Amino acid sequence: MIKKGKVKLGQLDLEGALIARDRVGIQDFVLLDSHNSETAFLENLKKRFTEDLIYTYIGTLLISVNPYKNLDIYAKKQMDLYMGVNFFELPPHIYALADNAYHTMLSEANNHFILISGESGAGKTEASKKILQYYAVSCPSSTLLDTVRDRMLMSNPVLEAFGNAKTMKNDNSSRFGKYMDIQFDCQGDAVGGHILSYLLEKSRVVHQNHGERNFHIFYQLVEGGEEDLLRHLGLEKDTKHYCYLVQGECSSVSSINDKNDWKTVKNALSVIDFDTTDTEHLFGIIASVLHLGNVHFEGDSKGYAFLNSNAALRWVSKLLGVHVQVLHEALTFRKIEAKSEQVLSPFTVDHAIYARDALAKAIYDRAFNWLVNKINESLENKDSNRKTVIGLLDIYGFEVFTVNSFEQFCINYCNEKLQQLFIQLTLKAEQEEYESEGIEWEPVQFFNNKIICDLVEEKHRGIISVLDEECVRPGDATDLTFLEKLEEKMGNHPHFVTHKLADKKTRKSLERGDFRLLHYAGEVTYCVVGFIDKNNDLLYRNIKDMMRLSKNPIIQQCFPNSERDSRRRPETVATQFKNSLLRLTEILTAKEPWYFDEVLVRHQVKYLGLMEHLRVRRAGFAYRRKYEVFLQRYKALCPATWPHWRGVPADGVEALVQHLGYQPDEYKMGRTKIFIRYAKTLFAIEDAFEICK
Ligand code: ADP
Ligand code: MG
Repeated sequence: MIKKGKVKLGQLDLEGALIARDRVGIQDFVLLDSHNSETAFLENLKKRFTEDLIYTYIGTLLISVNPYKNLDIYAKKQMDLYMGVNFFELPPHIYALADNAYHTMLSEANNHFILISGESGAGKTEASKKILQYYAVSCPSSTLLDTVRDRMLMSNPVLEAFGNAKTMKNDNSSRFGKYMDIQFDCQGDAVGGHILSYLLEKSRVVHQNHGERNFHIFYQLVEGGEEDLLRHLGLEKDTKHYCYLVQGECSSVSSINDKNDWKTVKNALSVIDFDTTDTEHLFGIIASVLHLGNVHFEGDSKGYAFLNSNAALRWVSKLLGVHVQVLHEALTFRKIEAKSEQVLSPFTVDHAIYARDALAKAIYDRAFNWLVNKINESLENKDSNRKTVIGLLDIYGFEVFTVNSFEQFCINYCNEKLQQLFIQLTLKAEQEEYESEGIEWEPVQFFNNKIICDLVEEKHRGIISVLDEECVRPGDATDLTFLEKLEEKMGNHPHFVTHKLADKKTRKSLERGDFRLLHYAGEVTYCVVGFIDKNNDLLYRNIKDMMRLSKNPIIQQCFPNSERDSRRRPETVATQFKNSLLRLTEILTAKEPWYFDEVLVRHQVKYLGLMEHLRVRRAGFAYRRKYEVFLQRYKALCPATWPHWRGVPADGVEALVQHLGYQPDEYKMGRTKIFIRYAKTLFAIEDAFEICK
């Protein structure tokens, strides 16, 4: 309740407010007294964290610290609390951010997106689920829409089963990037959705590092699959039987219940409209990958590969619907087309293993994309009613392992791009706002990571271009010649280090086959082994031809005839990824951003650029509010504005701040908003407001 009449800002009362603040910290960093000190910033986060207050604002940016325990803050009653409430009126919450994006979208009839960033394991995926749940529960509802809603929610467990895996950083780490549009009609009903997926880490299908697992779905199927199903798929009920599942030596994980998750996934598949034939074929594909991993080659006297036991091969042939003889040949011979002839050239054992793994990866990767398309069909909104969308971006976080390969290179490049987008949008928005409000502004200096983005992606000169060139160079291109080219071309770049240059730039030694990038989020050393192969991602032509003739209808869709007819060389993996990130940036630039940042450790505060963000926020004016909103909130502090102000809101605000004794340098009146220069000014008025409640 707001008390009527004038409130005196008594010293005693302010002290009372300060004591309360001392315990729980400050809920918006913009109000933090000690300007720009990283220590104060971290102290405040920590103080709040120990009180289980994991959310804190910097203006409209939300920071979250992963609690690693279930907090009682996501119940329906919490959702109800945040619905339609002004952003700053309740303690910071992910629901406040979701709700605000939603209401702004409705009132302004434009598109928005929520960008979630942070290191792997910071809580991005959980946050995106919370946001989706918020919309599912709190938006208006009708029976028809309930279907869309259920499907949207249920797409999550399915995609996580197929696209997430245990890593050293996170037991449920997303191994693909995901951008989801939630479509709303003019009444604010959630009417449809669309998912874009980015670069699944398919190398995981055939290889896992120690302490890591393959994608969850394999373990779920083997552990949880019904006996009939397993018999039909030729699978044993024990993950130890499968070479593709045991390399990490951790097939069971205490935090994961594969049996239960299997039930969840099966149920989710039925909600998103998969019929029994679909699921049968889909699990046939999953099982075929496991059998493929058990196809072992032996070498004959000349070192050529041959197959001794054919049991696994026969299962692959049955499940994929390809002839066993054709499969046998495709895995042990390469077909070379010379003039009008076709010559079969036998594989060595290593080559055969390479072909087998390439097939397993291709099948899984393409089936994953098929799955995303299928989910999209079921989320599609067939109504032509005008729609606005809220996009939710949950992409793999920045990753540094002991050994980092092509996959980490792509993931970290992606994070670099998102950071760039974040910088551009925050600064751009800020600048435009001062301009349109007619307020003078001095820009703040900050580190712009564009230089690193360019180092990776620049046409003809960036790392990806050099890699692509090596991939098409006829002759003896290897990972090491690629490294040499990098050294030649970017040796002088301030963010690039190799063995030869290591001492001079970072004074840390570096192995001969490694290069190091000084990313915005820290240094990462990449081992070049596998870069060429992974970027090329070649699948032998006879293997592709064979797959096109498959009797499994999903495989048929995954290997379309159009691919054979195309004469063009397929784009490399890195270039495809670069282009899809470019398209993503375009999609996002056309929408209004809402940020959600995950903070786990001190260095993230630094590398996510939070201090810089705070400085930018405070550069000219710490706070700005629409006149109406400001007046509505604080009108009780001045007799002239209480209970109603009858004139234009700007004059009311002027009367209010005059009454509060604001000095001319403390604030500026923009066209539609009041800008308050110092945090402490707003702080005082906030406290007065709190006290008189
Ligand atoms: P990311 O997507 O950033 O890699 P996740 O969202 O998968 O990370 O989070 C990793 C783990 O942290 C989750 O599996 C969960 O155990 C825990 N976690 C994350 N956010 C929360 C939260 N808000 N409340 C409780 N636990 C959380
Ligand atoms: Mg994730």
